[in-house]
Amino acid sequence: MTQVQKVYTSDRSTWVGDGFPTNSMLPMHEIGNHTSPFLVMGYTGQYRFSPSHHQRGVGLHPHRGFETVTIVYDGELEHRDSKGNHGKIGPNEVQWMTAGKGILHEEHHSEAFAKTGGVLDMVQLWVNLPEHAKMTEPRYQELTEQNIPEVLSHDEQTKIRVIAGQYQIGSTVYQGPAQTFSNMNVYDIRLNHGARLPLNLMPNWNHLIFILDGEVEIDGQIYTAIQTLYLDPKSTQVEIFAHRTAKILCLSGEPLNEPIVAHGPFVMNTQEEIVQAFDDFRNGNFA
Ligand code: MN
Repeated sequence: MTQVQKVYTSDRSTWVGDGFPTNSMLPMHEIGNHTSPFLVMGYTGQYRFSPSHHQRGVGLHPHRGFETVTIVYDGELEHRDSKGNHGKIGPNEVQWMTAGKGILHEEHHSEAFAKTGGVLDMVQLWVNLPEHAKMTEPRYQELTEQNIPEVLSHDEQTKIRVIAGQYQIGSTVYQGPAQTFSNMNVYDIRLNHGARLPLNLMPNWNHLIFILDGEVEIDGQIYTAIQTLYLDPKSTQVEIFAHRTAKILCLSGEPLNEPIVAHGPFVMNTQEEIVQAFDDFRNGNFA
């Protein structure tokens, strides 16, 4: 019996602006209905950009009702928003942005990265907000490499970076730096060829394993980049074996069990709230 209930192979590759080649790692039309609180996940793959004087990316656009989590593995991004925030996100850094009641932002390659060119390797995940927090004040959490606990296994063959939630090994609990509005664990995991990693899972949460690079084996089946594995929510442990050196992102979260109505950059609970979001955006209430 396998704990992997479903495998989704990215079947949709689009561009977000001129800066972000995006493989959809979760089916867009199901937005969060089987993966709550996680809504969508886009992965650039390891995409090489030539040097440019122009900072590729995506111009000013709104968000409301959820959070965008940007994890950079390689390359450097620059963001700017309607609240006057401005910053960069580089390798092994994470930006956890709470759009809440509304934000306008732009996302570009940093000036330095544009100039040198190179490989952009990053994901952007959308995390839903519970109903009570959808209209919370927008905020940013900039998680630096030093803020994110890195846990090396005893045999030094696996490395887990705890971005959000907790990871326990023996009696030691590592706490991820991201503050979240519902319970979840977000792990950036690297496995050397031949590594074996047992991961404890919270029963009745939604568990997703994104294989970004390499090849892993679970319950005797081999899975490869770039695939998303949906685990049985009743699972309490999964053992991941690295057939080849692998980079995976493991998301596990307590489902919100609230209605999801999504339209473009807005994710709310009802159609009326979506209409309101468009009205507010048109009337300049996001700026
Ligand atoms: Mn955005």
